Amino acid sequence: MSLTRITAKSVSRVVATLLVIGALALVYGLVAGSVLGGRMKAEPSPAKALSEEVSASIAGGRVNEVQGTMDARLGAVPDVLTFMVVDRAGEIIAAKPKSLIGQNLEGFDIHIVRYPLGALGVPVRFERQGGPGRFAQIVFRGHDPDDGRVAIHFVYCTSPDGRGYVVLSSWLRSAELLARTQWLRQSLDGVDGIVRISFILFWLALPIWVYIDAREKGANAAAWGMLTLFTNVVGWSVYMIAGPKTVRCPACGTVQDSSHRACTQCGRHLKPVCAQCGSLIESRWSFCSRCGAKIE
Ligand SMILES: [Zn+2]
Ligand SMILES: [Zn+2]
Repeated sequence: MSLTRITAKSVSRVVATLLVIGALALVYGLVAGSVLGGRMKAEPSPAKALSEEVSASIAGGRVNEVQGTMDARLGAVPDVLTFMVVDRAGEIIAAKPKSLIGQNLEGFDIHIVRYPLGALGVPVRFERQGGPGRFAQIVFRGHDPDDGRVAIHFVYCTSPDGRGYVVLSSWLRSAELLARTQWLRQSLDGVDGIVRISFILFWLALPIWVYIDAREKGANAAAWGMLTLFTNVVGWSVYMIAGPKTVRCPACGTVQDSSHRACTQCGRHLKPVCAQCGSLIESRWSFCSRCGAKIE
């Protein structure tokens, strides 16, 4: 199908459909994500309680006691992968296992919120950037951060001398929790894909609509289309406000004001009208709203 046969109306339906699909997927992501986030957060772990205890010790000025507390409490807990106190420069000052002490997490800048609604309680996932980053190597200890089995927990705290610390722990989630949330997690992955794809298609469909609409109205279609391609809804808004208020007559090709009911050049109807009474009709109607005549 050539581009000249696609009408602005058919493209506008595609744009509207993409908006609805994207919006529904986002709403589902918000609801399902907060349900999942709640279940994940509610998971009991020895690391969480100990994190609170360690951060209280730091806030009380007893930073040098925390390694002893961790050694005493975490020795017999197999599910905890890592437990560490990190200063704001990223240096690990206390840890289980102890071999991590002195290593640097490089400012935590490797973690990325994967879901678009991460800030609203949807679980934060860690994306690999060209293979497991240093952060992942240290914190997840050989486990794949993308497979959802590893939980991670942060507590921020400040010692009395004003230094900031992060108590960071990671542990393996229970198989029972993962089985119970599997469907939810997989559906969120699917929704994530739908949101991304509909966003990209929407981004591409809008300039196509503007291009076709501007061409039908005899305006500079290429310029309006390019503007919308690069600025999307901004360009579209400018087009709707400042764009052409004209239509091109399908019979003789002259540019006509969009308020004209008939072409001033050749007399052709520019809007569909009732054959019986001449009032304006809409294409989806079967009968005229004014005189009731059947519309062919
Ligand atoms: Zn005409
Ligand atoms: Zn009529």
